[in-house]
Amino acid sequence: MLRRMLLAASASDRLRRMAVSAPYTRNVVARYVAGDDAAAGVETTARLQEDGLQVSLDYLGEDTTSQDQAAAVAGEYVTLLGQLTAAGLARDGRAEVSVKPTAVGLHLPEHGEKTAAANIARICTAARAAGTTVTVDMEDHTHVDATLRIVNEVRSDFPDLGCVIQSQLRRSADDCAALAYPGSRVRLCKGAYDAPEEVAFPARAEVDRSYARCLRVLMAGGGYPMLATHDTRLIEIGAAQAVLTGRDASGFEYQMLYGVRPTEQRRLARTGATVRVYVPYGHDWYRYLVRRLAERPANVGFFLRSLASRR
Ligand SMILES: Cc1cc2nc3c(=O)[nH]c(=O)nc-3n(C[C@H](O)[C@H](O)[C@H](O)COP(=O)(O)OP(=O)(O)OC[C@H]3O[C@@H](n4cnc5c(N)ncnc54)[C@H](O)[C@@H]3O)c2cc1C
Repeated sequence: MLRRMLLAASASDRLRRMAVSAPYTRNVVARYVAGDDAAAGVETTARLQEDGLQVSLDYLGEDTTSQDQAAAVAGEYVTLLGQLTAAGLARDGRAEVSVKPTAVGLHLPEHGEKTAAANIARICTAARAAGTTVTVDMEDHTHVDATLRIVNEVRSDFPDLGCVIQSQLRRSADDCAALAYPGSRVRLCKGAYDAPEEVAFPARAEVDRSYARCLRVLMAGGGYPMLATHDTRLIEIGAAQAVLTGRDASGFEYQMLYGVRPTEQRRLARTGATVRVYVPYGHDWYRYLVRRLAERPANVGFFLRSLASRR
């Protein structure tokens, strides 16, 4: 129930304005967001790489309402990839980027899908020049078909374009089976968006069981699985499946969010596993942050106190 309320709050402009202007929300934001600009993202990447971690950078924002804005978001990614290259951080995919289709135009009333595909292809061109890759995030369940169509289309020129499957959706084991082909990079997560029972499992235990099923399908297939979870049991199932399917650290990776279980990220990396940290940066952090709070209601009280602070 609290998760549902928080996810609904993530769409509220009034709450967003309050949160962005409250002085002490910054403390909560700083836990999950690297900073306001690309320089902060690059600096955080360098620190994480020193600890043996790989990175996927996300430029925050999902309210793109014009072609110009969508092109500007793509331009931000191109600039970021240039900065990562200049700092020697992007090569061999050690720092890649994650892109939300709505940030690059999917929501636009006219030619949204075409615009998003063209902008993602532009970012892929810059990523290839930098020696790295792009992964397309998955958003609300109503966008899944369009997002998979875009991935399919852009993969004809950029086969290493990654995509995301959410285990909370009932369709996902079938999607994993369709995507488990050689060269296909697939991130598996539980899903951070609210979805109705017709399309999603309502109980957390079912979402977890679905994750384990999808994980087995991806690990048994020919692609490159990216296991995005902080859930200890699922991480263990991933490790067991890697042994069973003969995958070493170059054959799959774990992914976790910046600010979530940082000690576990480093512990896993020290075992020799490939571990990638998803690092968001940018001013437009409100929706991202509320989704993180919805995953961890223990943080909500702290956030609300920051919001109420007048100083
Ligand atoms: C790299 C990465 C990329 C992602 N990309 C997408 C995407 O494209 N689309 C999408 O819908 N979702 C995405 N997600 C979010 C994902 O769907 C889940 O909402 C999120 O990862 C929490 O699920 P969990 O598997 O960690 O399990 P949970 O059962 O939620 O958490 C397991 C444990 O991890 C810790 N934990 C989890 N979340 C938090 C938090 N916010 N703060 C503090 N501790 C926490 C807690 O100890 C918790 O008990 C991504 C997640 C990761 C790690």
